[in-house]
Amino acid sequence: MRPLPRSPFLGLICVLLLAIISVAGASFALEPGANLNGAAGLRVPILVYHRFGPTVADAMTVRTEDFAAQLKYLHERGYHVVPLREVVAWMRGGTPPPRDSIAITADDGHKTVFTDMLPLVERYRVPVTLFIYPSAISNASYAMTWEELRRLKATGLFDIQSHTFWHPNFKVEKRRLSPAQYEEFVRMQLSRSRQVLDARLGLNVDMLAWPFGIYDDELIRMARAAGYVAGFTLKRASVSAGDDVMALPRYLMTDEMRGSAFAKFIARATAPASVRN
Ligand SMILES: [Zn+2]
Repeated sequence: MRPLPRSPFLGLICVLLLAIISVAGASFALEPGANLNGAAGLRVPILVYHRFGPTVADAMTVRTEDFAAQLKYLHERGYHVVPLREVVAWMRGGTPPPRDSIAITADDGHKTVFTDMLPLVERYRVPVTLFIYPSAISNASYAMTWEELRRLKATGLFDIQSHTFWHPNFKVEKRRLSPAQYEEFVRMQLSRSRQVLDARLGLNVDMLAWPFGIYDDELIRMARAAGYVAGFTLKRASVSAGDDVMALPRYLMTDEMRGSAFAKFIARATAPASVRN
């Protein structure tokens, strides 16, 4: 058999192929840093509500009709109200939520979450995460009962998570208690809340809203040790890549957030980082 003639072009073709492969390799290598899962510049606002009512009784109350208008606006404009867990999963290295996503939370377990928020949440089918301090439930006059929380959970739209056991001010307690007492106190506030919510509602509680938005490195370390994987503050900012998952920012919703003010706020809060300002 005659040996195949050696083509003078074979060497050139090999060089070209190598060049193509190395260029392709380089572009693959650049991809994750240049555009993480297509989420470069993604910003997701987390809203935090407290109370609802026909009139504004205090700074933490949002008029029920204003909350209805806010949900209607988000629905009509095609915003995605995503479960808070999806934001946390993104912060822990998972898939990012789609653009124009928003997460809704409500702190403290006020009765009007059941009477005023629930019907609207059911009408618009939006997921909500509640942060509860169990010492108040079925106890304080302003708070929901365990039965009401069970009914919220049964809708499948409410996730119920921890706001410590009795909503202490950790700064005040740190001054008041000895270091050993303080450590014991923090540990109790973090773990007892999880235990009671787990036992009463059959939940897996692993997210924590810091009372008054107060946290520091020591508190974060203790929260991690107590089994929490995410924490939430009251710092007014949207969540973006690289944020500390134990201190994610949230926007406090007040009576001022009405009509065009809400529309402007949402547009700003969801604008990708690169096109901000
Ligand atoms: Zn609170």
